[in-house]
Amino acid sequence: MIRVVCCYCWKQVKTLPSEFDEISRGVCDRCLPLMVRELGQPMQNYLDELKAPVLVVQDNARVISANAAARKLLSR
Ligand SMILES: [Zn+2]
Repeated sequence: MIRVVCCYCWKQVKTLPSEFDEISRGVCDRCLPLMVRELGQPMQNYLDELKAPVLVVQDNARVISANAAARKLLSR
């Protein structure tokens, strides 16, 4: 099982099925405004600066945003 924990408060955000016990980091709903404030820039600008493709998903796995690299990759 993969335990996704908030990188700010360490609250468990969710679990994902897996053969291995692992911990992945995410951000909980309560800490997301803190993360955005610390970035000092709009979230989309931050995501677009990342070279790796990044998808932002909700709990139900619905994609709500993608950075420039992901948009480029998915447009192929
Ligand atoms: Zn948190």
